[in-house]
Amino acid sequence: MKRRDILKAGVVAGVAGALSAQAQGAQANQPGILTRARNLIFFAYDGMGWEDYAIAQYYSRRVLGKPLALERFLASGVSGLQNTNSLTSFVTESSAAGNAWSTGVKTVNGGLAIHIDGRKLTPIFALAKQQGKAVGLVSTATITHATPASFVVSNPDRNAEEEIAQQYLDFGAEVYLGGGQRFFDPAVRRDKKDMYAEFAARGYAVAKTPAELEAANASKLLGVFSSSHVPYEVDRRFQNVNVPSLAAMTRKALPILAGKREGFVLQIEAARVDHANHLNDAAATLWDILAADEALEAAMNFVDQNPDTLLIIGSDHVCGAPALYGAGSVYRAGSAGIDLLRNEKGSIEFMLARLGNQPTVESVTELYRTVKGIALTPEQAQAVVAAITQRVYLPDAVVRGIQPANTLAWVMRQTDAAQVNRPNIGWNSGQHTAGPTLFGVYGRGVGAARIGLVDNTYNFTLMTRALGIRFQNPVMSEQEALEVLRSRAELPWNHPDDALALA
Ligand SMILES: [Zn+2]
Repeated sequence: MKRRDILKAGVVAGVAGALSAQAQGAQANQPGILTRARNLIFFAYDGMGWEDYAIAQYYSRRVLGKPLALERFLASGVSGLQNTNSLTSFVTESSAAGNAWSTGVKTVNGGLAIHIDGRKLTPIFALAKQQGKAVGLVSTATITHATPASFVVSNPDRNAEEEIAQQYLDFGAEVYLGGGQRFFDPAVRRDKKDMYAEFAARGYAVAKTPAELEAANASKLLGVFSSSHVPYEVDRRFQNVNVPSLAAMTRKALPILAGKREGFVLQIEAARVDHANHLNDAAATLWDILAADEALEAAMNFVDQNPDTLLIIGSDHVCGAPALYGAGSVYRAGSAGIDLLRNEKGSIEFMLARLGNQPTVESVTELYRTVKGIALTPEQAQAVVAAITQRVYLPDAVVRGIQPANTLAWVMRQTDAAQVNRPNIGWNSGQHTAGPTLFGVYGRGVGAARIGLVDNTYNFTLMTRALGIRFQNPVMSEQEALEVLRSRAELPWNHPDDALALA
């Protein structure tokens, strides 16, 4: 099938979704199925694929001795798959994927709730706010990052995060919790504007530490807990990094929002699964999924107690495409990948900060032993030293895109099939990939009695129907978008790789 036809098929799938929803009209009147949701929680896994799920699921069962809440969700709710392609690429990034969710139409990678020709789109939380709903955003990325931002504001550049912080102030959601102090701090912002003071003047409690989050007692809350993204869960948990967990932020947000008379809409994002996958850092990926699971459980508990709440989960795209592969006789050693992850007590991001600018073979070897539980050869340790001090990277790591981090990950790969001394997790790339992703609805889901494979734009259909909103954003064709792209010598928002902002 030609690319054009495939994209047409995507549009048809959206139409088919609407038709099947009509067919479900009768079901919607049956007891047990919600016709209108008072509250809506959208739980986003950024950059999570099915192998990530499998690794976390097996780790949780085998090492922690319990199934994931996500497994319970998938088993008890309504789940399926969603296609993730953007308007002009089979591989999406988080803003185009966020736009598909939040506006119901496909866009070009890079802008927030906007078409490439500058036509603004109205995102779902802006529509909900017009209804009087309270609005909340919770993320482990900078709170101004693409996925949360795409639900509330329109901006041609997803990386214009200082401006997006201002747009958040103007939008006036009740809860913003995540990372990104540098976009609010007058000492760092280019315009020197004190966004903390601006938010406080509008009645927000402002929190920058877990203790301040805990103590915050106001009907509106801005919490930003790190300069950039919130550090990985594996570092928070084992390296005593003082930031709140995604679950702690979720538990704080829910009662504030639930106190509003008209109900609320909330997006919770497990953002750094994506970043960890970009870096090919299996332990960082694993622990951020486990942290997300605690937050998901809190959201599921809320739905159990407040059944007029619709909970939707989804992953916006796959990233890195890792896989736990079979090894040894009857693949028995394949489980070593799960067992060895138990020895990992920090992320590659943490290791880079710890190594500094002048690492030695000795300091590198020691750090891999204590943080990753892995014995590097002298050659591997030297490769890490060269990557940091001379910017000489391993060729196989270079194609992955993020240096020196991908070199630090690459020296850990298993090269001896007879050994079980390193996690047998292989990585396809250091970039987003094209596969379909997780999609599910929990509780008495609105008209969602039957979901199979849908387009990611179907989430907008589901949310608007649940909230009783009738709205259609303007559709752009791939051909129209390509003509706009060709007419420009320089693309104004060609920032497809959010992980480049990992600093
Ligand atoms: Zn990414």
